[in-house]
Amino acid sequence: MNTTDQIKNAGVVGAGGAGFPSHVKANSRVEYVIANGAECEPLIHKDFELMVNFPEKIVRGVKIMLEETGAQKGIIGIKAKNKTAIEAIKSAINDKRITIHELGDFYPSGDEYILVYESTKRLIPPKGIPLDVGIVVNNVETLYNIACASEEIPVTEKFITVSGAVKNPRTFIAPIGMSFRDALEIAGGVKEKNFGIFVSGIMMGKLEFNLDLPITKTCAGLIVLPKEHTLIQRKEQPEKAKHRIGKSACDQCSYCTELCPRYILGYDIQPHKVMRSLSFTTTGENLWNQYAELCCACGLCTLYACPESLFPKEACDKAKHDLREQGIQWSGKKEVEPHPMYEGRRTPLKQLVKRLGVTEYDVHTNFISEKFSLKKVEIPLSQHIGSAAIPIVRVGESVRKGQCIGEIPEGKMGARIHSSIDGVVKSVDEKSVVIEK
Ligand code: SF4
Ligand code: SF4
Repeated sequence: MNTTDQIKNAGVVGAGGAGFPSHVKANSRVEYVIANGAECEPLIHKDFELMVNFPEKIVRGVKIMLEETGAQKGIIGIKAKNKTAIEAIKSAINDKRITIHELGDFYPSGDEYILVYESTKRLIPPKGIPLDVGIVVNNVETLYNIACASEEIPVTEKFITVSGAVKNPRTFIAPIGMSFRDALEIAGGVKEKNFGIFVSGIMMGKLEFNLDLPITKTCAGLIVLPKEHTLIQRKEQPEKAKHRIGKSACDQCSYCTELCPRYILGYDIQPHKVMRSLSFTTTGENLWNQYAELCCACGLCTLYACPESLFPKEACDKAKHDLREQGIQWSGKKEVEPHPMYEGRRTPLKQLVKRLGVTEYDVHTNFISEKFSLKKVEIPLSQHIGSAAIPIVRVGESVRKGQCIGEIPEGKMGARIHSSIDGVVKSVDEKSVVIEK
């Protein structure tokens, strides 16, 4: 079996959030392989801990991707402030083709467009992907999983950070399908009576309140905040209310655009103009909305830039959705040239943490290598981009950890799903498989 097939069999998908099946990337021909170790979501440190504790596996993952894609150069992007991680990776590198690129402590330096530019000075064409400039980008945990796949170890675990208002913020390895409730217990439990959980990050993650939800292959962590925290209050506002406030209060100061990381990199994204479309709904809405198309939903405009605490990111989300519904293709400016103020206008992470009001939670999250034995896991069949896996186990069947329980539908793009514990299948439907020890 070749390595790309091993990656496919092991169910490896992008662990950084998107969940793109990794065997598809391994099948491409490129010049560079970039490992994304930027980790810029505030309060999440699982990639840092992974690099410190498992550097050899990450480097092996990069080497495998170099072999598979025919690339001549591998670059591992790590923030310069993460010295321990840099040292660990440096001592694991045993191949001249692989180097480290030190990144500044800005948000969102892990955005693919930014990471590619920072490490190679190449600019991905608008609406394009790294492949368009001869590059594949993989998160460092994905590369760890690729190295495991080469040893025929499937993806059954996830590195996560549990932080915020918990007693012992920490980073650990969670079996896929572990409930949020169990994960919070491992972090000593929640300090607040009423709270919300940002899943995978405050900036780009989802807000959830259901403790029975499972950890998936793309979950970077759980950040717990008290229910009355501004971030939860703002996120909880109904979509209509967010747009209504924007319509009446946006003074078109354009700070949202001036600080937008994609705009300063030279892309034609202008959230303040998208905000205009909330007011001028009969004239030019489609034109204004086009300025949203290159938005990466980093959330900086809504949570950092806007002095009125409005919701330009959410306006961009709506605009992108509306254009898609109407089948309107993007037809904006194709030339990309970084803004002369690119260097000076980037957002320091420290500044962002302050503005978000989470400084008190910005602490080290100790890595614990302990393996947890769970009584029950609920494993979703869709944890990735593409078609959901088809369950191949029946109720009452005994399964082993690492056994395939969901197969990629014939002829479709997707990822296999494996059991994360030894146990008996308790229920199966088109969404998930529940297994009890
Ligand atoms: S920063 Fe806020 S007030 Fe200024 S243009 Fe953007 S949305 Fe409007
Ligand atoms: S969310 Fe806002 S700041 Fe981020 S890319 Fe989109 S428009 Fe720019």
